[in-house]
Amino acid sequence: MMQLAKRMDSLGTETAFEVLARANALAAQGKSIINLGIGQPDFKTPPHVVEAGRKALADGHHGYTPANGIPPLREAVAADIAKYRKVEIDPADVLIVPGGKVTMFFAILMFGEPGAEILYPNPGFPIYESAIRFSGAKPVPIGLHEKNGFAFDAEEVLAKITPATRLMILNSPANPTGGVVPKAEFDKLAAGLAAHPQVCILSDEIYGRILYDGHEHVSFLGYEELRDRTILLDGWSKTYAMTGWRMGYSVWPKALFPHAERLAINCHSCVNAAAQYAGIAALEGPQDAVDEMVAAFAERRQIIVSGLNQIPGFRCVEPGGAFYAFPNIEGTGFTAKALQNKLLDEAGIATVAGTSFGAFGEGYIRFSYAASRAEIEEALQRIKDCLR
Ligand code: PLP
Repeated sequence: MMQLAKRMDSLGTETAFEVLARANALAAQGKSIINLGIGQPDFKTPPHVVEAGRKALADGHHGYTPANGIPPLREAVAADIAKYRKVEIDPADVLIVPGGKVTMFFAILMFGEPGAEILYPNPGFPIYESAIRFSGAKPVPIGLHEKNGFAFDAEEVLAKITPATRLMILNSPANPTGGVVPKAEFDKLAAGLAAHPQVCILSDEIYGRILYDGHEHVSFLGYEELRDRTILLDGWSKTYAMTGWRMGYSVWPKALFPHAERLAINCHSCVNAAAQYAGIAALEGPQDAVDEMVAAFAERRQIIVSGLNQIPGFRCVEPGGAFYAFPNIEGTGFTAKALQNKLLDEAGIATVAGTSFGAFGEGYIRFSYAASRAEIEEALQRIKDCLR
C-alpha cells in the first residue's frame, strides 16, 4: 500500500478548475454553456507580446536563465513599479516566477508551520487557505463584508493579530468580490502594524491595473516604513491576458529574497526563457491593449451588475476592480453551491459558489464577466428564466 504524507490531507483546491471541467464536459455533450466561471480575460495576449516570445524562440533562447529571471526583465519590472506604483525598488529584489500563485506558495511555505498563524481574506482566493493548511499553520480568516464593499476593516484585522501571527495576506482589487480597499483603511492598517513587527505582509496586487470609476491603485509597497516586511505579488496573467504563459513576479524584502530564490531553485529552476522576453515586451511596449481590455470590462461590469440586481433574490454591490461580480443570492432560497449547480445544469451558466472562496462566501456566487457582452446578456436572461 502506498502511504501519502499526512499533509496531503490538508491540501485544498481551486474549484473554478472543477467547474471549468464540468462545463467543458457539458459543452462536449452538445449543451450550450456560457462560461462565467473561470477567472481569466477572454482576450488574446497582445500581438507584439506574442511576437516577442516567438522571436525569442527563433533567436535561440532555449536554455536555463538565471533562477531570478533575466536581468532586463527584472529591470523592466522595477521600471513598471516606478511608473504605476510610484515606488522605487531595487531590481535585485525582483523574482520572476511561473505565475502569481508561486509567490503566495513560497511566502506561505516560508512562514507557515504548526504553531504559526497566517491571516488571509475570506472570501478570498482559495489557494491562500489551502496553502496555509498545507504548511501546518493555522489559517485565521479576515472576514470581508458586503456592507464594506468587501474591503477589510483595519481595526478588525489588527484585532486578529497574536504573537503567533507571522504573515498577513492582503488582496486589493480582490478575487472573488471585486472589492477595492480604500486608501484610508490601508493607512490605518499600515499604522497599526508598527506595533506588530513580527508580521510580514503579502500584498497580492495581481488585479492592480484593473480598476474602475477612477479608483487609483494603492500598493502596499508604498508604505516605506513596512518595506522590509512587505512582499509584493503581481504578474502578467490578468493585466496582459497571459494566464497560460505562466508569468508572475514578486518583490521581496532583502532579508527574504535569498530564501525565495532557494525555493525557486528547488522548485522550478527558472521561468520559461522565451516567455520572459514576452514579459519584457508586455511591460515596455504600448499599453493600449490593457486600456482597451479594462474599458471592455468596465462596460460589461455595468451590464452584469445592473442585470443581476434586477433578478429577484439577487443583490449585487458594484465591484471597484478585477472582473468579478459577487452578488448576494440569499433571497433565492438556495445555498451558494446549490445555485451554482442549478445554474450550470439547468441554464448552462458556469459560475463559482461563494463557498469555494471560504466559509464567509456562503450566500454569494461569483460571476466572472470576462466574457462577451452578448454572452453576459444571454446569461442574465437564462438565469431569470431558470429561477422563475
Ligand atoms: N491571486 C489572485 C487574487 C488571483 O485571482 C489569481 C488567479 O486567479 C492569482 C493570484 C494567480 O494568478 P496566476 O494565474 O498568475 O498564477
